[in-house]
Amino acid sequence: MSMYVIGLTGGIASGKSAVSQRFEALGIFVADADQAAHDAVAVGSDGLADVVDMFGEGVLAADGSLDRPAMRRRVFADPDARKRLEGIIHPRVRELLHEACLHATGPYTIAAVPLLAESGGRKAYPWLRRILVVDVPESVQLQRVLLRDGIDEVLAQRMIKVQATRQQRLAIADDVLVNDGALDMLDERVAALDRLYRALAAG
Ligand code: ADP
Repeated sequence: MSMYVIGLTGGIASGKSAVSQRFEALGIFVADADQAAHDAVAVGSDGLADVVDMFGEGVLAADGSLDRPAMRRRVFADPDARKRLEGIIHPRVRELLHEACLHATGPYTIAAVPLLAESGGRKAYPWLRRILVVDVPESVQLQRVLLRDGIDEVLAQRMIKVQATRQQRLAIADDVLVNDGALDMLDERVAALDRLYRALAAG
């Protein structure tokens, strides 16, 4: 049972996964919002039942799971439908994350929420004790996303532009991990934050 939960966020390719892996290597449980978003509409879940009530059976695949491409097409050009879908999924994601963190053992836990700044920030997640933002300049983000995902630069730029700005993310941060150096610098910075969080969680 761990009541001290840190929110981890950052822009696309800022290094959230790299940071999560390092906390995990130090024995810290990390709950992941992307995973929770899948679980929220898993086969047999209330979330999936609500989605079908709202959008019809047409968003189900033959095996009864959510047909994600069909769902994406359904909300693509319909902001109102997207809002309604998010109204089903987002509260469940928050609940699943909170539960997973509360039930995990360890001195503190981490909820990794890529779109924390975009989805209501601290107000939507009042149970987060601190927010850690992984921060890099946009030029570094662009380089890393191109390298990692092998997409073209126009698409990469667009993916960065639809997210919150660096300033909007920094505005909700208690702690900022600047990930502009080599990966071994990241080890040291995560270790320093781990010491801080262990001390804070111990009161
Ligand atoms: P996110 O989870 O925020 O999208 P990742 O952790 O996947 O970002 O990092 C994006 C890419 O950049 C990955 O290929 C990762 O290995 C690489 N990367 C992350 N941090 C560094 C770093 N400090 N130096 C070099 N490459 C890095």
